[in-house]
Amino acid sequence: MARRKKIRAKKRFFVFCLILFIVVILCVAGIAKLLSGGESENTGNQEHNSAIDQQTQENAPPEIPVVTSEDGTPALSAAVIPGTEYLYESARIIANPESYTCIVNRSYNLPSDYVPSDLVKVSVPFAPRMEEVKYMREDASKALTQMFDAAMEEGGYALYGASGYRSFKLQQSLFNTNVGRKGSIEQANLVSALPGQSEHQLGLAMDITSESMGYSLTEDFYNTPEGKWVTDNCYRFGFIIRYPADKTDITGYLYEPWHCRYVGTELAKQLYESGQTLEEYYGLA
Ligand SMILES: [Zn+2]
Repeated sequence: MARRKKIRAKKRFFVFCLILFIVVILCVAGIAKLLSGGESENTGNQEHNSAIDQQTQENAPPEIPVVTSEDGTPALSAAVIPGTEYLYESARIIANPESYTCIVNRSYNLPSDYVPSDLVKVSVPFAPRMEEVKYMREDASKALTQMFDAAMEEGGYALYGASGYRSFKLQQSLFNTNVGRKGSIEQANLVSALPGQSEHQLGLAMDITSESMGYSLTEDFYNTPEGKWVTDNCYRFGFIIRYPADKTDITGYLYEPWHCRYVGTELAKQLYESGQTLEEYYGLA
């Protein structure tokens, strides 16, 4: 009898171990599935950050997609002002102007007919300016409102928008005015972009000022509490100071502490922490 009991107990123990083993296997498989499922979901949600992922994975600058001619060679910018064709000599036309992280500068231009599809009138206080420049793309506008609200809550700083979306045509007219003021195309181009080369045409840039600045846009903005706050905090809302003081030779523009470009929070944080400009991020400098 004792022997039978022993055998029965052994059998029970064996069955118990078997069940425990199966349960453990199922748990491990379940956890593994959950983890891999979570990852693929994340990748799907962060499609717009694929350029960032690509850079991390390959440790190489992200590619800049450009418009190509029928023979496959990059099309050159057709945005010319009579008599200034040379300035556009090697400029390419970007093929991804809708991307928040795209680059627009002297070498990479916007198509002259590009108009963002989701422009909205911004809902922040605005300096006395023409109605035409009070627009931004929807996400950028939302982020701008959050930033202005935070400036008020955290520091009591009242920020004002001064210039948002500018059409190709408006940029052309502003540039021509600057040529008249500065005396030459080259001098005008140090402080204002040629049409097709302005981030304002993206609907992702906003010039910011304050009452203490008399709503003007000058380097002095950095020395105001409002300007310092913007410099130190804009990245939290997805904006970068696009033309920093010490990067004039890389960006090609003088210091503009007022010009905030929306690139999304992930890239803004990355650039804020690394101190890189968009040119450096794309391996152009
Ligand atoms: Zn600007």
